[in-house]
Amino acid sequence: MPYKFTFDLSKISRFFFTEIARVGYQKGMHKKVGKTAQDIIRKFRIQEATGLDVSDAVVLLEDLIDLQARNLLEREKFVQTRKRVLFLPHCSRKYMDNRCQAVFDSNIPSYLCKHCSPDCLVNKAASFAEKKGYDVYILPGGSCVPKILKSKHYEGIVGVACGEETKLSGEMLEGTNLAAQSVPLIKNGCANTVFNLEALLKTL
Ligand code: SF4
Ligand code: SF4
Repeated sequence: MPYKFTFDLSKISRFFFTEIARVGYQKGMHKKVGKTAQDIIRKFRIQEATGLDVSDAVVLLEDLIDLQARNLLEREKFVQTRKRVLFLPHCSRKYMDNRCQAVFDSNIPSYLCKHCSPDCLVNKAASFAEKKGYDVYILPGGSCVPKILKSKHYEGIVGVACGEETKLSGEMLEGTNLAAQSVPLIKNGCANTVFNLEALLKTL
């Protein structure tokens, strides 16, 4: 499920995300940060940089806080895992049309990257993760996750997606013994989306 609004945080200071983690931890997971969220939005000029209205910016910020807090809480368990999987979003491929040479296998279901473009974000992430021993799936949506997890027995999951998708996937994982880490999209819109490759590589 996409957000009802589009955003692009790629020009915002990286300190913004560190601040989110710090505040999220101090305030506690799942808590609404209310006025604090609005203060951070003002401090980092999120409205000016993205054009979002304040209520959409607060939704986005609360989701990022939740995600960063979950990452911190799960990190120790995650680093102990051996069999790991990386889920990448199909919307971050360089091309969304037939210039992308990836083949979609509906049995998995996942795209299989053919590495046609060295500057494709998905290609860079997939190539790095595969070298580290991860299985990699490029998904058209979070609904593909349960089928894959049912047929393979992973211990650790890294997922890249927008906040809404990550929340839904997090709910799917509740009650399982899997350790998860998430990397948010910093530009959404369901095509030509962007995630921070450096942040993903550190997470992996
Ligand atoms: S590198 Fe892979 S994901 Fe990117 S456009 Fe080519 S086949 Fe598609
Ligand atoms: S932005 Fe990407 S991950 Fe989010 S809903 Fe759209 S296609 Fe899925």
